[in-house]
Amino acid sequence: MPKVDRIRQTGTFASIEEATASLVADGDAALVERGVPRLLLLRCPCGCGDNLVLNLDRRSGPAWRLYRRGIALTVYPSYWRDTKCESHFILWNGRILWCDWSDNDSFWERSNDMEDRVLARLPFEYVNYEVVADQLDEIPWTVLQACHALVRRKVAVAHPDRRTGQFKRLP
Ligand SMILES: [Zn+2]
Repeated sequence: MPKVDRIRQTGTFASIEEATASLVADGDAALVERGVPRLLLLRCPCGCGDNLVLNLDRRSGPAWRLYRRGIALTVYPSYWRDTKCESHFILWNGRILWCDWSDNDSFWERSNDMEDRVLARLPFEYVNYEVVADQLDEIPWTVLQACHALVRRKVAVAHPDRRTGQFKRLP
């Protein structure tokens, strides 16, 4: 089965049963919402046929953060399944970025406006991009890509240890 690169939203449901029943094709996604978003159910976009369950409610344990821009869904951080199909992907603005792909740059849509806003918030000391995203009320993925673009523009640098996710502005 080929992997899909985009989700299709089937709707918002009050119960897990209704949400699950709405999933018919790989990449179908259903929200379970009761007052607040509770779960995102996703027919695995790898094609394995399993339904993935992403908790969105911090009150019931570790949770993904859900962002809605218009109708497009983003979750943060990435989804990494450590069993069965071992899918590892980023869901950003309704699109799936497979983390085993080597060329990621063409996936992200660049925005000079976003880069300028991130640069204006970036301190001269190292800071994690998630902190900047929270300050700007923006999606962490978007801020991370803006940070990479600022590094390429040589107005910012990334921490030598990439795992820290830290960046700083150059004087
Ligand atoms: Zn799968």
